[in-house]
Amino acid sequence: MDFTPRINIRQTYDRFDAPVTAVDCGRMCAPHNPDNKPFCCDICEAVPAAYHQEWAYLQEYTDLWHAWRGDECVRNPEDPAELLAETPEHMVLLACQGPEHCQRNYRAMSCRQFPFFPYVTSDYRFVGLAYAWQFEFSCWVISHLGAVTEAYRREFVAVYDEIFALWQEEFESYAICSEEAREYFAAQKRRLPLLHRNGGIYLVSPASERMRRVRPEQLRRFGPYRESG
Ligand code: SF4
Ligand code: SF4
Repeated sequence: MDFTPRINIRQTYDRFDAPVTAVDCGRMCAPHNPDNKPFCCDICEAVPAAYHQEWAYLQEYTDLWHAWRGDECVRNPEDPAELLAETPEHMVLLACQGPEHCQRNYRAMSCRQFPFFPYVTSDYRFVGLAYAWQFEFSCWVISHLGAVTEAYRREFVAVYDEIFALWQEEFESYAICSEEAREYFAAQKRRLPLLHRNGGIYLVSPASERMRRVRPEQLRRFGPYRESG
């Protein structure tokens, strides 16, 4: 039996539409990508995932997307088997026509949330936004967490509060992802940066999960963003 709740995709998109930062962050990161595209819009770097009902909605209203095949990245075609095996059952992998053809109105949830995911503590509280650590050296936003707008954070939290109230499976998948984040930062002997839903920025100890509030300028920058800002 399918326990997936009905989510109003259009309404969810409209409530989650604020830009991540006031500046166009794609212009900040693209010059550092050999393909000269924003990393999160480059299929060689990130494969978007959508809920099945989101995919049904997108197919009805736009030709922007197609089901990911694995051969879209010309310089490095992938064997789809591995990534498909890692994809949760309630999601489908997609590819868009590329940033030059982006239709802002029809960006998937995974475009809107990038580079963040809802961070869930080990005692099952959704406390804020953590970032996809795999993109530390490519995503400009990760090196500029203080630039994330309050509107974006508010919309992110409100939309996922709604989704989690309806959909336990989705909450569980982010609880697992958050656990993986703690394992990654623990192995690195680093604390995990968190945009807390209360508006503050915190560093979270991956072992004790104690949080300490910090100023944005205390946070680490990565790769090409270390010096240049
Ligand atoms: S979210 Fe990160 S990777 Fe995507 S366009 Fe902005 S800076 Fe680039
Ligand atoms: S739909 Fe737009 S924002 Fe999303 S991956 Fe494609 S180009 Fe980027």
